[in-house]
Amino acid sequence: MDFYTQRQYRGRLKAAIFDWAGTTVDYGCRAPAGAFQELFREHGVEATIAQAREPMGMHKRDHIATMLAMPALSAQWEKAHGAPYTDEDVEALFQKFIPLQLAALPNFVDVIPGVVETVDALRKRGMKIGATTGYNEEMMAMCQKAAAKAGYVPDVTVAVTQVPAGRPAPWMAVKAAMELQVFPFEAIVKVGDTVTDVLEGLNAGMWTIGVTKTGNEVGLSEAEVAALPEVERRARIDSATAKLAQAGAHYVVEGVADILPLLDDIDARLSRGERP
Ligand SMILES: [Mg+2]
Repeated sequence: MDFYTQRQYRGRLKAAIFDWAGTTVDYGCRAPAGAFQELFREHGVEATIAQAREPMGMHKRDHIATMLAMPALSAQWEKAHGAPYTDEDVEALFQKFIPLQLAALPNFVDVIPGVVETVDALRKRGMKIGATTGYNEEMMAMCQKAAAKAGYVPDVTVAVTQVPAGRPAPWMAVKAAMELQVFPFEAIVKVGDTVTDVLEGLNAGMWTIGVTKTGNEVGLSEAEVAALPEVERRARIDSATAKLAQAGAHYVVEGVADILPLLDDIDARLSRGERP
């Protein structure tokens, strides 16, 4: 045979899948970071805010395990408890984390400025809206309820407890696509504020956009970001941009409010036969 054919999707984007904390609600992704620090402190381990934020986006049990595996924190645990941590300790910490997180969450569910308007614009383009999160179903329900009051209602939302494994595995994004009934996956863009969000999208074969200023990597409230000296604000955003780009994000912007021009760009790339 002297030729072959190749199938290419050349249509437009059909759906966007957004992360919750740090992307569409909870500017700075502050709810989980504080809860992890409090949990570890109660068990004789002082974690820095950077250590508490490093694994963000994962299943919260995996997040706890990743923190405990950090040499500085393993050493503190062993000193406080007289023995290395075990899988049982991870599970026990996770069970204690759930009520801590649920108690803190109502203070950190404000919808991030620009999200409602951007989602409206996406729907006008004919796109469907999905959402995924490292929160469990109860935490997710709290986010959904508060977001709905502010006018943000995704068509579908998937919690980490509804799939076999959380990020970086693609299952939440895949389940959201299935429930939205959208394919092929190159017609979907995943938007999130952490490295694991980017990997979730890439592993699902989707386009990925990282967000910096509103998310975990900058890690500050809107007022705190605004109060930073310009040089420091720039430095924090640049560092977050580098991290998400190095993880493989196709695009990195400051927040969801900035994504519309990127969707035009992705549509153009798809029309040329490019894939994520
Ligand atoms: Mg997030």
